[in-house]
Amino acid sequence: MSKLRFRVVESAFKKRATEVATPAERPSEYFGKNVFNREKMFKYLPEKAYAKLVDSIDNGTPLDRETADAVAAGMKKWAIEMGATHYTHWFHPLTEGTAEKHDAFVEHDGKGGMVEEFSGKLLIQQEPDASSFPNGGIRNTFEARGYSAWDPSSPAFIVGDTLCIPTIFIAYTGESLDYKAPLLKALEAVNKAAVDICHYFNPDVKKVYAYLGWEQEYFLVDEGLYAARPDLLLSGRTLMGHESSKNQQLEDHYFGAIPTRVMEFMKELEIESLKLGIPLKTRHNEVAPNQFELAPIFEECNLANDHNLLVMALMRKISRKHGFRVLLHEKPFKGVNGSGKHNNWSLGTDTGIGLMGPGKTPEDNLRFITFVVNVLMAVYRHNGLLKASISSATNAHRLGANEAPPAIISSFLGTQLSQVLDHLEKSEPEDLMLAGKQGMKLDIARIPELLIDNTDRNRTSPFAFTGNRFEFRAVGSEANCASAMLALNAAVAEQLKLFKTEVDGKIATGKDKFAAILEVLRKDIKECKAIHFDGNGYSDEWKEEAKRRGLDCETSVPVIFDNYLKESSINMFESTGVMTRKELEARNEVKWETYTKKIQIEARVLGDLTMNHIIPIATRYQTSLVDNVYKMKDLFPADKASVLSARNLEIIEDIACRTNFIKEKVDEMIEARKVANKIESEREKAIAYHDTIVPMLEEIRYHIDKLELVVDDQMWTLPKYRELLFIR
Ligand code: ADP
Ligand code: MG
Repeated sequence: MSKLRFRVVESAFKKRATEVATPAERPSEYFGKNVFNREKMFKYLPEKAYAKLVDSIDNGTPLDRETADAVAAGMKKWAIEMGATHYTHWFHPLTEGTAEKHDAFVEHDGKGGMVEEFSGKLLIQQEPDASSFPNGGIRNTFEARGYSAWDPSSPAFIVGDTLCIPTIFIAYTGESLDYKAPLLKALEAVNKAAVDICHYFNPDVKKVYAYLGWEQEYFLVDEGLYAARPDLLLSGRTLMGHESSKNQQLEDHYFGAIPTRVMEFMKELEIESLKLGIPLKTRHNEVAPNQFELAPIFEECNLANDHNLLVMALMRKISRKHGFRVLLHEKPFKGVNGSGKHNNWSLGTDTGIGLMGPGKTPEDNLRFITFVVNVLMAVYRHNGLLKASISSATNAHRLGANEAPPAIISSFLGTQLSQVLDHLEKSEPEDLMLAGKQGMKLDIARIPELLIDNTDRNRTSPFAFTGNRFEFRAVGSEANCASAMLALNAAVAEQLKLFKTEVDGKIATGKDKFAAILEVLRKDIKECKAIHFDGNGYSDEWKEEAKRRGLDCETSVPVIFDNYLKESSINMFESTGVMTRKELEARNEVKWETYTKKIQIEARVLGDLTMNHIIPIATRYQTSLVDNVYKMKDLFPADKASVLSARNLEIIEDIACRTNFIKEKVDEMIEARKVANKIESEREKAIAYHDTIVPMLEEIRYHIDKLELVVDDQMWTLPKYRELLFIR
């Protein structure tokens, strides 16, 4: 082991857990401590302002200036009591992270002193000079006006000394420059459309919420080892590294005992999350060594997404206190599982009905089937778009590999639900309906018992029904869930509207309401059959089958992004009021540009490491072998020496061939980048990077990994997988 590597590895293995003190209070007592939630609002706001704010949160009523001032004053009072000195508008630009610009509460008091100041105006809207965020050409820096505007539906919170106010981020001209604004619009669209459908069954429903329960997977690596891997540091993943002899084959890590050092990290993360009102519930080891998962109790989608972004930020911060770095990249290590972020999604009413779960009466069950079939229709019609919503340069490593959902969107329903849909489709309408007051004799009354033990969970499905929700499993661990959630909710909203139009059309001709619903459902069940697949999503037969069914089977990420600009997608986003053509076009520019940049960084890092780590080390080792071969000649008669040196000669040649190949490829890759960089169109450039650079990264890596196996371990400078992947 090289001296440097030895020191780093030794120190990593010697590290002990830093104990985290358990708070004196119980979690129920400190839960939400750092959040300006309703309890705090009630305490710190005048009665009238409180009532108006709650109405605004629940019903989206705009806030007047006077109320905003009162809210700002109350928020400031609470924040200062909590020790905050600064405030920030907290938003989600298209970079997949969060952004904040802190301002102190202080202002001149006009008498030479300072006062703590925070007005309604500053709460509601700000103009951060954030012209460098990606915007796809919507803002050019001459009139670089981007506004952040308060989202009262997600409560303000305190991190460190800063009051954070969740905001949307929009251009002067009104276009969204972030994920939150279109997500909120999609949630509003699905609310409206779903309420209308609910009214067929329950006239008292006023609001439908979309719920999200995410499951965040991640890796932890020792900080010292991480620092010694420039590829991890700069690109978030290892661009080289031979598989460890032992990794996940024994599956001994999965659900195993959590190492003490990791446990202390998790403990602190949980305490801080709970204080921020994030209801973390589950933690466990994942399949790959050093891989873990955490999940909260599901929440309203917008809030759940804010919480996920907050948790990712907390993980980054807290991991460092424990001598770790958290890896949120979808595929930090080759040969072991990557990380995803299952998005458990459902709709539910303000009257407490879960719309993705069966109920007690035939009507309840017809409502359940109505929502399920409409979701399937939406996913069917927009399967390519949904794939685009979870696609990225980094998630591409995970999808389609035999560990994660395949690169084709399909939906698993399980035997029971499949049987119900089959039954509906095949029965004659007369069999399903009874004339007169009784309405229905739907066999679907039997659903509840059946679904309760619907345990055949198919892990290979990207969009699986799991009893009372759908689980969108293709989302990447690093992603902002809003990308997937806004596409899904908008698509479902569009579909529910279409469904209602059809049903109402039939009712207008005098048809019974339930008969009309059944008729449209039966037609839809037939139409969206292609999306339903309960088999093994990893198999090659499925790829063939999916192609025959007309599902989107494209695997090139830049081409997958085209789905956003298909007429059906633009219509869907425009008709639901979620995004305009202009916004979609701009956002795609950002997507392509980001794709290119990510691959470009990887190519540069790999090129660098090859030229100044790998080739020099391999050559030095090779020289020592050459030296040995010559010395053997001095010691032994020529023919004996050549027999004895046979192995070394082989390695010498092997190293020469590989280093030559690597050097040639790196040069070729530089040339290919030059060619690609000259391409004007962001789309074409991204495609060039995908088609030419990405395969070269793999080819180069292959030979580096082979060299790692033969070169003297004492010389190899980069920490190896067997060191990176096993926390002691
Ligand atoms: P598994 O790993 O078996 O898929 P977990 O218990 O780890 O399940 O995570 C399930 C997630 O789904 C949790 O966040 C949970 O709160 C969430 N969830 C449960 N029911 C619903 C629902 N009706 N709608 C949305 N999310 C839900
Ligand atoms: Mg899950």
